[in-house]
Amino acid sequence: MDPMIQLTAAQMAAKLRAGEITSVELTQAHLRRIEQVEPTINAFLHVNAEEALETAAGVDKIRAAGGAEAEKLHPLAGVPIAIKDLIVTKGQPTTAASKMLEGWMSPYDATVVEKIRAARLPILGKTNLDEFAMGSSTEHSAYGVTRNPWDTERIPGGSGGGSAAAVAAFEAPLALGTDTGGSIREPAAFTGTVGTKPTYGGVSRYGAIAMASSLDQIGPCARTVEDAALLHELIGGHDPKDSTSLPDPVPAFARAAAEHDVAGKKIGVIKQLSHGEGYQQGVLDAFHSSLESLKEAGAEIVEVDCPSFDYALGAYYLIMPSEASSNLARYDGVRYGKRVLPDDGPLTIERVMAATRAAGFGPEVKRRIVLGTYALSAGYYDAYYGSAQKIRTLIQRDFDRAFEQAEVLICPTAPTVPFKLGEKLDDPLKMYLNDIATIPANLAGIPGINVPGGLSEGLPVGIQFLAPAREDIRAYHAAGALEHLLGEKGEAIWQQIPELEEVH
Ligand code: GLN
Repeated sequence: MDPMIQLTAAQMAAKLRAGEITSVELTQAHLRRIEQVEPTINAFLHVNAEEALETAAGVDKIRAAGGAEAEKLHPLAGVPIAIKDLIVTKGQPTTAASKMLEGWMSPYDATVVEKIRAARLPILGKTNLDEFAMGSSTEHSAYGVTRNPWDTERIPGGSGGGSAAAVAAFEAPLALGTDTGGSIREPAAFTGTVGTKPTYGGVSRYGAIAMASSLDQIGPCARTVEDAALLHELIGGHDPKDSTSLPDPVPAFARAAAEHDVAGKKIGVIKQLSHGEGYQQGVLDAFHSSLESLKEAGAEIVEVDCPSFDYALGAYYLIMPSEASSNLARYDGVRYGKRVLPDDGPLTIERVMAATRAAGFGPEVKRRIVLGTYALSAGYYDAYYGSAQKIRTLIQRDFDRAFEQAEVLICPTAPTVPFKLGEKLDDPLKMYLNDIATIPANLAGIPGINVPGGLSEGLPVGIQFLAPAREDIRAYHAAGALEHLLGEKGEAIWQQIPELEEVH
């Protein structure tokens, strides 16, 4: 493997600035890696070498010319990036990993993509996901599963398995994801990478294909906390095109991630998310040794009680399908993407819609549309959707109380290491249970980061830090500190990934 692609994004950026490498060389090296490993990993649904190299050549030209233009280049200019195929891009297809949008080209860029283009990061392509971001394993993609580069018989997490696997397998140093119930953090946990779900409204959602609008959030995927922080700084900030966008200026996340000082900081272990049924011993062992490291560095570990979290999963799987059933009504064979005509009988609009939706959506998407439609139906609204919204409030209150006792909260990001392909595919409930630790943050709108916390049987274990809304900086600070503390004990987790050739 080319050593150039094994650097962090920050190191790549420094070498580009120093003129030690060019963006074209760096982009080509990633494209070669993509060509080499994609037959096994399948992280990308679309690769656009031409566009990426064009952007790269543009950066190199500006840098070579020097002067004010070169000075003005964004610090990450020339560092390649991959984008989850739920985020719309002009000139590259956007499918949401669904047959419904097969071949669809967006006429506009998402705000985050506009920012990435303005900063001149070569866009390598679009990454795989569970169809319309519904899933925890990327097995629900209509275009084949993405394999975990740590063990190709295992899933990379989901829904953003493509972005996480691409970053872990050195196909891209940076990627964008979306997180509605954990789709950035859980794949990061399962691939030994870093992923952030920002505060709701902290990053514009304009151009993210809507799944559940009150929960969806775009965020960064990277190999280190610093890299995630740098990308977050680039994509964050107010956007008038997103009515839920916060007016806040973007804080210096990367600087906070580099502080590493946790002495005297109170870190709250969430009682409900740190033991019990479903938690693998290896995950708990890595979690406890992470806690030990933080304690040795002077952090004060306290336990916080969040009793309503027991109902979080139930509330999420009512609210999310309800919003999704409404958001996905637009795929009707009339306005967007695919249109399928019924085989026989009259050609009414209802029958065209039915034929289109029957053919265009996969089984998980249909399951959730049915669930959501049922939960919102007049006779059941109060019993299901209304109750779930009440639980949501209780969860927010649990967080408020917990943050009175601790500056950040901590728990394993997922109860298990990455599972085997097919292991949970036929049992939706088992698949849903996997999201137990990531969902509360979406319900409360607060930020969360996954940072690698060790290995269990050679597979990555993720640790999640949670902070109050608008305090993403606290999560970066804590995650940066843990990464640093574990790094002092040996190689970083992402550097310990086996050579793909050796993976079975
Ligand atoms: N795994 C969760 C789900 O299936 C989360 C998905 C997401 O965050 N997009 O709903």
